[in-house]
Amino acid sequence: MSFDASRYWNPVLETLPRAQLEQLQLLKFKRAVGHAYANSPFYRKKLDGAKIKPGDIETLRDIQKIPRTDKDELREAQQTEPFPYGSLLSIPRDDVTAFHQTSGTTGQAVRQADSWRDWEWWSECWATILWAQGFRPKDRVFIPFSYGVFIAFWAGHYACEKIGCEVIPGGGLSTEDRILKMKEIKAAALMCTPTYALHMAEAAAKLGIDLAKDLNVRKMLCSGEPGALIPATKRRIEERWGARVHDHAGATEGGAWGFECAEQPGGLHVNEAMFFLEVLGTETGQPVEPGVKGELVITPLDRRAQPYLRFNLKDTAILSDEPCKCGRSFRLLQGGVLGRSDRLTKVRGVLFSPTSVEEAVRGFPELGDEYQVILHKRDELDEVTVKAEIKPGGNRSPELEERLRQALRLHTGIRINVEVEAYGTLPRFEVKASRFKDQR
Ligand SMILES: [Zn+2]
Repeated sequence: MSFDASRYWNPVLETLPRAQLEQLQLLKFKRAVGHAYANSPFYRKKLDGAKIKPGDIETLRDIQKIPRTDKDELREAQQTEPFPYGSLLSIPRDDVTAFHQTSGTTGQAVRQADSWRDWEWWSECWATILWAQGFRPKDRVFIPFSYGVFIAFWAGHYACEKIGCEVIPGGGLSTEDRILKMKEIKAAALMCTPTYALHMAEAAAKLGIDLAKDLNVRKMLCSGEPGALIPATKRRIEERWGARVHDHAGATEGGAWGFECAEQPGGLHVNEAMFFLEVLGTETGQPVEPGVKGELVITPLDRRAQPYLRFNLKDTAILSDEPCKCGRSFRLLQGGVLGRSDRLTKVRGVLFSPTSVEEAVRGFPELGDEYQVILHKRDELDEVTVKAEIKPGGNRSPELEERLRQALRLHTGIRINVEVEAYGTLPRFEVKASRFKDQR
């Protein structure tokens, strides 16, 4: 095993044999159900409605009896008293120490209450991730994040302090100023979205700065979007920055549940000591076998202020039963989060995930980083058009478009129209990208 076991590595939890890990999960799950039933009016009603008492959960299989929780239910519950968390609040109002909210890209934002205890839990989860990715006390970490109501990298900031890194809060600066600040203070590590990592690289090129040569960033945590485990995107970010890029998956409601370790196994470990993650068949709602794609449902096992039982993440992934070289017993999601299940759509009878386009487009060195996926109708038939950009100084050609068309067909299984446009014509994104448009 190649761990630096000196500071923030918990060998007891992270390599626990599966049987014991499952015992721990069952114990914690029972406790989470008991807490939610006793203290969350929302879950009391939900469990009563399903005729389930906490005592009915005796094995991990029994978890299936509990109905899943959707984001719409959370929005509705927050219309009730007490303001602003509604019937989701499960601790006395005075014990709430942090307010955050979801980004609300798909409707009304969900407000998230955390107590100090929950906040320590957040940093604990993140510290596990950062240590696994090689973040150490000697590292000076730059966080180019607009410190606001979105939870994003807030917990990453506190976790850096917890493990002893030196943190530079890079909020309130322009992209150019952030690059110059990282250069000036010789930042060694960085956390941001994959989209922003590429956006910064584009901005640096305009400043005449070569990130790989002129900066000292050698470790990056990328999160908020699937990109860091899409091979062509990971490669692009690593080349531009001269750094190793590691993926992380989390959600305001779900917590910081997944991470790629320093071995870069091509997948995300699920922190199974802190979370119970299910991969369920989209149609059946039943657990699927390793190797089969399903929808992710998460239960944070230690959350108190605003707990969740079986929350639908709306992400799709494939569980692997292959062990990781790092020695952790936490299982891997092969290829990480593969896309949003609410973005999966049928095109001419074939299931299509817009995320599958990214690997094909970014696999072309002739193309820039931006692209767009547009779903539209032609003569009542569904059509997909992918717009990409030529890289600066490159030449567009019908031959390049044809090769891209073939690569897209290979990656998605459907025929896709291709338009390669001039550099700089497609929209740019600072945080999370929105590259998918359904115009049907
Ligand atoms: Zn590993």
